[in-house]
This record gives sequence, structure tokens and C-alpha cells, in this order.
Amino acid sequence: MNQFAAPRKSLGQNFLQDPNIINKIVAALSIQPDDIVLEIGPGRGALTHLILPLAGQLHLVEYDRDLVQYWQQKAQTAANLDVHSADILKFDLNQVISAQPQNIKVIGNLPYNISSPVLFHLMQYADRIDSQVVMLQKEVVQRMSAQPGGKDYGRLSVMLQQRYDIEYLFTVPPGAFFPPPKVESAIARLTPLSTISHPVNNHKEFEGLVKQAFSQRRKTLRNTLKGLLNSEQIESVGVNPAARAETLSVAEFAALANLL
Ligand code: SAM
Repeated sequence: MNQFAAPRKSLGQNFLQDPNIINKIVAALSIQPDDIVLEIGPGRGALTHLILPLAGQLHLVEYDRDLVQYWQQKAQTAANLDVHSADILKFDLNQVISAQPQNIKVIGNLPYNISSPVLFHLMQYADRIDSQVVMLQKEVVQRMSAQPGGKDYGRLSVMLQQRYDIEYLFTVPPGAFFPPPKVESAIARLTPLSTISHPVNNHKEFEGLVKQAFSQRRKTLRNTLKGLLNSEQIESVGVNPAARAETLSVAEFAALANLL
């Protein structure tokens, strides 16, 4: 008999069941014996069972109480397993990081309804993370890794690329899951930049400016940035006020934000 409750749609529970895909995802994190790994949403353990023997320490953050109980039982016989019963969006990663001299690695087949908030939450700890391998809706990974000039390039691309090197690794079809989701998925690897090429003086202001610039994609910067920067200021860093946000590089956004 299946020891698990039926998958909960409200928690984005689409469980991986394709062994090849599972192997490829775990391999993408290049886990070394001393590594401290944090897995978001272990679910029934598709990734977890593979990670556990590879990692020095594995921390799980799971929201589903039944699954937490299942993992807490497993932890009684696995010395390198720690289980955190929490919502990842409210989970302070310092609980895992601060006691450690070394950085951690993060992996997760993320619930799609909270994927962008999870990425922004993790970004707060980017200087203590070596690498993040995450599964998301394919369109989201396309937006994360998009280059200026196309329709996929937007707020998510700029905000994440300012802090990470982002790789679109591979696409995962619905059939790899139980139950199958309605959309295709993809795996992304985010590696925090050790030297930030385009630093910003104030991250909140950078975030606000990027959001405002993309709030009306078809309008020019002169219009969308009204109230923040005037045309002369925009021109002062070599950006054309008649350009649209989707044509600007991360470097140009950083330069504009640093005028504020
Ligand atoms: N890792 C498993 C796999 O690949 O088969 C499960 C992936 S499933 C898409 C997402 C998992 O995240 C589920 O176990 C779900 O209960 C958990 N989850 C959903 N919302 C969460 C949250 N806010 N914080 C932590 N875990 C969450």
C-alpha cells in the first residue's frame, strides 16, 4: 500500500518519477562529500534519496506536515539529515548557514505557484550559496536566462542576472512527474557571481527602478521612469531615453539605479 497521502495540488505536488531526469538534476549540483545541501520541498524523496548518500549534511525544508513527519522518522537513522518543518518563504537560511564556515548548495523542484518569490527569498543569502539547481516552469527559466531584446527579457532576468550566472540546463516533459503538470518544466543552475560585475549602491532602489521600467513594456524609459529620473539624467549614463526597458542591459539598469 502507498504510505503517502494523495498529492496536494495546493502545495504544487507534482512528484518526479523519471530516474534519468532525477539523476541529471542531482548531477547538476556536483555534490561533494563535505557539502552542506539544502533541499526545498523534498516531497516523497525523488531527489532526496539520491542526495543523502552524497552530501556531508542535508537539510530539508518541507511545508506538508505529513511529509515532514515521514522525513523526521527517516532522520532518526540518518545522522546527516536535518528536517525543518517550514514554509521556505519564511525560513531564515541562517539557521542552516550561520553555524557553518562554508557556503551551502541549494536544490529544489519548486512549487510553481511560489517559484519567483522563492528565488527572491534565496537571493538574500546569495553570498553564502555556492550553487542553486532548481526546477521551474519552463517559461520562468526562459525569462530568468533571457538576454535583452526579446519578449522573455524582463524584471526577473535583470534582477537575477545582476547577482547570478544563470544556465538553462534542460527541459523536463510533463510525463516525468506524477501527477503530470499541465506545463513543461526546466532545470536552471544559478551560480552567485563571486565578483558582481555591475554593483548597485542600493538594492531596494535598483529593484524599484527595474520594476517601474518594465511596468509598461511598450513605453519609453522617458515615460516609465517619470518621477524617478528625467531625460537628462538617463542620457548622462549613455542610455537613450527613447529606448524601452527590454533593450537595456543589466549594466545599464545598474547605472540608472546608481543615479538615484
Ligand atoms: N522534490 C520532490 C520531487 O521532485 O518529486 C517534490 C517536488 S513538488 C513539485 C514540491 C514540494 O514542495 C512538495 O513536497 C510540497 O509539499 C513542497 N512545498 C510546497 N510549498 C512549500 C513551501 N512553501 N515551503 C516548503 N515546501 C513547500
